[in-house]
Amino acid sequence: MRMHDHPTIHYPDYVWPEGKRCAVVISLDLDAESPFLWISRGQDINHLGEIEQRRYGPRQGLKRITDLLAEYGIQGSFYVPGVVAETYPELLPHLVAGGHEIAHHGYYHERIEALPPAQAEDYLGQAQDLFRAQTGLTGLGHRAPSWEMTPDFLSAMERRGISYDSSLMGFDHPYHVGNLVQVPVQWMVDDALYFRYTNSARDKTHPANPGAVLESWIEEFEGMREYGGLFMLTIHDWISGRPQRLRLLRKLIEHMRRDPTVWWARADEVAAWHASSINSERFRVPAHSINTHFPI
Ligand SMILES: [Zn+2]
Repeated sequence: MRMHDHPTIHYPDYVWPEGKRCAVVISLDLDAESPFLWISRGQDINHLGEIEQRRYGPRQGLKRITDLLAEYGIQGSFYVPGVVAETYPELLPHLVAGGHEIAHHGYYHERIEALPPAQAEDYLGQAQDLFRAQTGLTGLGHRAPSWEMTPDFLSAMERRGISYDSSLMGFDHPYHVGNLVQVPVQWMVDDALYFRYTNSARDKTHPANPGAVLESWIEEFEGMREYGGLFMLTIHDWISGRPQRLRLLRKLIEHMRRDPTVWWARADEVAAWHASSINSERFRVPAHSINTHFPI
């Protein structure tokens, strides 16, 4: 594909269900210790700091978050690496019992673009088998670890019966990439950017003040209301399950609930709406690789 194959800027407004002006999805990437284990693969780990910090998620953080959502009758979308479900077999049934969506997030929180395509697809198949064994549900949604995607993996998901992906950010509402529905994410409303701190080399500063983050997230939500987009919040068990972030989440929910024209939905419901509505034909981009060998 060349750079200017799709030059249009004349996209219409997104159409939400009758009476709704925008949508809110509360999503959680249930990473626990999986990214740390993947990065440390092949090594003996003889230090406990980061792994214990991350295990706070499945031990305490997740339950506090699902209790908070239950208070407001909110059903969220939970993206769970296979190895996390395998290590904590009560997690997926707990989420299903709460009416939440369970969806895929790699098997080992592996980065898709760093693997041979067949291996990445095989991990997805293993995760589907595990979901089915633990809950009877295969998991129809997918979010890539670290939000990186490849054209090969888009095809793999189609072959494996995945109905939508939630890893990219080419629109601020759902769209198609090739044949697959994309329910977009956004770094600006990801808790890890503000609060992730493990005292490692990648941590440049202390965790943010949740008051400032609340103000920033409310601004983004208000903008989505104005433009009719999708406010897709992404939080993590081991990060947002801490008390001051739970209080932030409660304040954000309280603010967003004031407007009855907001559609509260799970990501799979948003994807199904997209696929069955007029939007499906209006917002489509190809899934091709990009040829960057053009003359400068
Ligand atoms: Zn993740």
